[in-house]
Amino acid sequence: RSLYAVKGWGGPYFLVDDSGRLCVKPSADAAPVDVYKLCRDVRQQGVQFPMLLRFPEIVRGRLHELQGCFNHAIALAGYQGVFSGVFPVKCNHDCGLIEGILEAGRPCNFGLEVGSKAELLMAMSKIGTSPGALLICNGYKDAAFMRLAVHCWELGIKAVIVLEQTQELDVLLEEAAKAGVQPVIGMRAKLATRHGGHWGTTSGENAKFGLSPSDMVAVMRKLTAAGMADCLQLLHFHIGSQITNLSVVTEAASEAAYLYAELAHMGAAMRYLDCGGGLGIDYDGTASESHSSLPFSIQDYASGIVCAVQSVCTEKAIPVPTVVTESGRALVSHHAVLIFDVISRQGQVCQPPAAEPEEAAQAEHHVVKAARKEELSPRLTVQGQALLQASRAATRAVQPTAASMREAYLLSLSLKEQALKAFKGGCISLEERASVDLECEAMLQRVRDIAAASDAALPDDVQLLCMPPVATYHINLSVFRSAPDMWAIQQLFPIMPIHRLDEQPTVSAILADLTCDSDGRIDRFISAAGSKASASTLKLHELKPGEPYLLGMFLTGAYQEVMGSAHNMLGTLNVVTVRSSNCSNSSVFGDTPEAEISPRLRGPGYAVDTVEHGESACEVLTRANHVRQDMVEGVRATASAAASQGRMEWGAAKSMLKAYERLLDSYTYLSL
Ligand code: PLP
Repeated sequence: RSLYAVKGWGGPYFLVDDSGRLCVKPSADAAPVDVYKLCRDVRQQGVQFPMLLRFPEIVRGRLHELQGCFNHAIALAGYQGVFSGVFPVKCNHDCGLIEGILEAGRPCNFGLEVGSKAELLMAMSKIGTSPGALLICNGYKDAAFMRLAVHCWELGIKAVIVLEQTQELDVLLEEAAKAGVQPVIGMRAKLATRHGGHWGTTSGENAKFGLSPSDMVAVMRKLTAAGMADCLQLLHFHIGSQITNLSVVTEAASEAAYLYAELAHMGAAMRYLDCGGGLGIDYDGTASESHSSLPFSIQDYASGIVCAVQSVCTEKAIPVPTVVTESGRALVSHHAVLIFDVISRQGQVCQPPAAEPEEAAQAEHHVVKAARKEELSPRLTVQGQALLQASRAATRAVQPTAASMREAYLLSLSLKEQALKAFKGGCISLEERASVDLECEAMLQRVRDIAAASDAALPDDVQLLCMPPVATYHINLSVFRSAPDMWAIQQLFPIMPIHRLDEQPTVSAILADLTCDSDGRIDRFISAAGSKASASTLKLHELKPGEPYLLGMFLTGAYQEVMGSAHNMLGTLNVVTVRSSNCSNSSVFGDTPEAEISPRLRGPGYAVDTVEHGESACEVLTRANHVRQDMVEGVRATASAAASQGRMEWGAAKSMLKAYERLLDSYTYLSL
């Protein structure tokens, strides 16, 4: 169980129960839900793998934890201001998720952050029901964006228009003048504080975003000249995501607080200090400073910011600001679990037919036997038979000594190589080459078996030779669609089987996805508990015929859904939103009475709230401008031509066309 370090990255939401099943505990008062059972139940209702499970209660819990940590830090420090969090919608655009965040965050005025026109349009439609919440408008803006944003206050929406570049000020002033409103303005500061993680390049003086000190002074002078200095109320910074060094967090907050204080002294009516995102999560469970981990708690983060800001404000003798953060990753990562099935395994050792030891001495090779029985009619060659006999003899001759095992290993490589050369030279048949490969594999397996049975310590080099081969498990998933950060920025996500966790996994494997792309593989994994280095293989179980083998990828709730692409036309996933059935708080899920939820979608400890079906092949094709009717007509015409020319029965042509249409409407992943 500790193989997958669940306690490190998963606590308190994920755990392994006594029967070897991965369970989710969406909230402190919820009973653990057996994820394997849940998935099998949902599958029985016709929902195919891969599927994304959402647990909105986890988001609610994270939101309350973040708010609670800031409240605690504020109380402890005697800070005379409040915390007002916002969720950056770019992290996950899901409608239910965003509505859930606003609903859960309403008592503490939790708001939204947007960075584009589409995000603004969406946020404006949702945030009206949270009158105390902030709507932070970041990102590059044109006149249309400004026009909409300046009207927000009239609508009762507390929108802050954050200038990312100096040119935006003129556009803003013009639109505000036309609308006759005094907008609330913020500035994004380009801090000198840098962080060392993947997004470190978005920090420091050469950062892509934000205003330099001279830009800030210029904006301040222009606002003062326009008599609008008091419109400037917020200073924002964001130095990058997944910051793993607490002193970088506090240094940035302190640097920003000095800028904030200066703007206040220059006449701005400063009220908010927006510390952006950056709060990370512990993907590998090691609580270290590695890019995949986090060595401090949310409480440390909140206290660090509050104390840093308070200290500067005391020094500069100004009132403290409302602290805003735009935490995305930390809020929503845990709530989504990707479940996918293993299709097959490559690299399985296929043993040639076993011969009794006595028989084996004079045995003919199975290729020869098959030829005699005329089963396969293989083309036999002198060279091929010589190689086969040599490999069989060598397998029988392996002794349980280090020297013999080494020799067998090297011989197996050499015989395989000789068979390849002979095949390339046209001297042996394909069947002979395949048989030599299998015999050599059997020789290696014999070496491994001897090593496993040996009580004596083997030399290191022999132990290395005896390592089982790495197997490739083919998975029903697209890395590019569902975990793009794995490919794009080498992000590690915890991956593990969700069942059979009471059995020792014996196979060292890597994962290969459905795409025809060699980058569509996963060969970096978090290590067993305690180790900071990533592992190159994942320990998995042998596949059992007729039994699905389900894997879960965890902490995928931020960025992965929005950044995934339709490589190979693999579309969006089936999404199943689940709540714990003993959850009494209906506000996370709206007011759907229990009775309205289909009893078929209930199980021990859980109720399925919604199932959203992933894209069909036709929907993915339509996005690339393919027209369903044209495609169907095209295939119909080809099929009629084939039938009228006698190449196909009319009946077969008709049923083929039906199957074509059915497939157009079906899920883009394999149906196993
Ligand atoms: N705010 C801004 C301006 C961002 O660019 C981002 C993401 O990069 C965030 C907030 C969210 O950051 P995180 O997911 O690290 O909390």
